[in-house]
Amino acid sequence: MSAATPRPPLTVLLATPRGFCAGVDRAIQIVERAIEKYGAPVYVRHEIVHNRHVVERLKRLGAVFVEELEECPPDRPVVFSAHGVPKAVPAEAKTRKMLYLDATCPLVSKVHVEAGRHFDAGREIVLIGHAGHPEVVGTMGQLPEDAVTLVETVADAEAFTPRDPARVAFVTQTTLSVDDTAAIVEALRRRFPAVAAPHKDDICYATTNRQEAVKAVAAHADVLLVLGSANSSNSVRLVEVARRAGAARAHLIEDAAALDLAWLDGAAVVGVTAGASAPEVLVQGVIDRLGEAFDIDVDEVDAPRETVSFKLPRALTG
Ligand code: SF4
Repeated sequence: MSAATPRPPLTVLLATPRGFCAGVDRAIQIVERAIEKYGAPVYVRHEIVHNRHVVERLKRLGAVFVEELEECPPDRPVVFSAHGVPKAVPAEAKTRKMLYLDATCPLVSKVHVEAGRHFDAGREIVLIGHAGHPEVVGTMGQLPEDAVTLVETVADAEAFTPRDPARVAFVTQTTLSVDDTAAIVEALRRRFPAVAAPHKDDICYATTNRQEAVKAVAAHADVLLVLGSANSSNSVRLVEVARRAGAARAHLIEDAAALDLAWLDGAAVVGVTAGASAPEVLVQGVIDRLGEAFDIDVDEVDAPRETVSFKLPRALTG
């Protein structure tokens, strides 16, 4: 673009809060500290959090990502991802006398504990979540195979036939759409009035806050950009929430390089947010790229700051 060509104006609305949550921050720190303490390589079972940039950076520091424990040599430390693991995984690590560090988010562990309590009380458990997501695999893997039934939709909730309708409980994945989950919960409560339940659901504070923030921005934006990886559940949900809140042109992008400026044709306002596993540096990258093509005015939407933080495992702090 020549100096004589004025860049078109564009307002950039930044959603707040966005990006890293306390569970992601803790999980990344666990890998970094483990590499500092034990040296490289440190093995990580599954992507520590679902973000390509985070994974690539940790690989450069000395992390080796694998899908199964059997791929790890027994004499190197292994970290379990923030999504949680079936009980069989730490059990196998113990059998093999491996040093393992559990980066499961404490809010996921809380759901594991809840499910265990319902099981001990003799209840049949419904898990609201997405089939195949590692968090769902981990939560279902806390209990025997037939103890938990996965429900993904309202139709699934309507079709669920428990052994005893008076002894049903539900728990949820932490990164679901708040609104979709409310509809599923409503169907369960209507069918099983005695259902044992969390206060509302198990969707975590970070997922809830990011969805609220994106709704507030989407209502005023012509285009909405969500930084995050395609396998990040909470990031994908942000795109869906934004579309429903009125931002028809909502896109999930891995980073600034994935931004197609043609999406901004005719746009006066672009909203930007990031999933709970996406680093803030990626948001800055998008702002910089927008700034090259447009005369931007960046406006950060005011919201209360998140103050949640989680302790690291003792093995890394002692
Ligand atoms: Fe924990 Fe929620 Fe972050 Fe997942 S999104 S790591 S449950 S705080």
